[in-house]
Amino acid sequence: PRDYGFLFKENEQNERLVSIFNRYINAIDNVQSVRKHEDAEQRLVEKYIQTKNERQLLWGAIIVGGFMFAILFIVFRSRQRILAQLAESHRQISQQHDALQEVNMQLECLSRTDVLTGMANRRHFDERLALEYASYKRTGHPLSVMLLDIDFFKHINDEYGHGVGDTYLKKVAIVLDSIMVRSTDLSARYGGEEFICVLPNTSVLGAMVVADKIREAVSALHTEYPELLPRHVTASIGVATLLGAKCDAQQLIAYADAELYKAKNSGRNRISGILLDPSVDSIETVAGNAAAP
Ligand code: GH3
Ligand code: MG
Ligand code: MG
Repeated sequence: PRDYGFLFKENEQNERLVSIFNRYINAIDNVQSVRKHEDAEQRLVEKYIQTKNERQLLWGAIIVGGFMFAILFIVFRSRQRILAQLAESHRQISQQHDALQEVNMQLECLSRTDVLTGMANRRHFDERLALEYASYKRTGHPLSVMLLDIDFFKHINDEYGHGVGDTYLKKVAIVLDSIMVRSTDLSARYGGEEFICVLPNTSVLGAMVVADKIREAVSALHTEYPELLPRHVTASIGVATLLGAKCDAQQLIAYADAELYKAKNSGRNRISGILLDPSVDSIETVAGNAAAP
């Protein structure tokens, strides 16, 4: 029995019990069952260790996964926020860009518009004349310029005040707009009570016809608006048409101006025109002074 780790108090009864136990134990082959028991015990221990490891691994994976998920979530949310901020600033920039473009267009328009009459101003006219002159150089089609000056306009201001004078100027602008109907024509306020028009691809006779229509319409203004425009006001017009002569755009205007003063000097409410053509020996006045009504 000591081999099996049991201790007995020594007395006769126990001595007998030990001898019986020894006798039986020798008769039993217990090696196999002990080994089975040990194997099972070993497997149990291994399984316990394995289960414990697996659980630890699982917890580890859960913690690492959760941590990574949290990091990814934070990164994703920050990215979303940055993208939203970028989209918002992009929207604001494009909004400001549009507004700026709109203001620029308005400024550009204002810088080319006469404040009183709303028609093209001298700057706009000069730009257009330069374009039309270049076109004339390419095509050789006649290019006409017309200068209009209101007669004795100072008297209107002196007699009726600048308000009436301004009203007259606006009405003359409307007359020009209604008679110069070709899309390529442009009329502009040249300064004070002077107006200027460019008529591309228009002969001197054609321009003279237009000029006379304008002269007539201006002369009829006071009958059309008797309460607004109490005085009879007329205009004188000079026309110059370029067709082959050596003459630049500014000289063309100077010729129209010279014709205007011819019209003034021959009694006002008149038109006068000149064709700048190299086939004639010298530049000559072709249309003379139209008769006053
Ligand atoms: P003429 O027949 O020789 O052209 O005589 P005029 O009186 O028309 O010419 P003048 O050059 O002596 O006077 C032009 C007048 O035009 C002087 C000025 O008071 C007036 N004027 C110029 N610009 C404006 C304007 O914007 N509004 C008003 N109401 N008058 C203007
Ligand atoms: Mg004048
Ligand atoms: Mg005048």
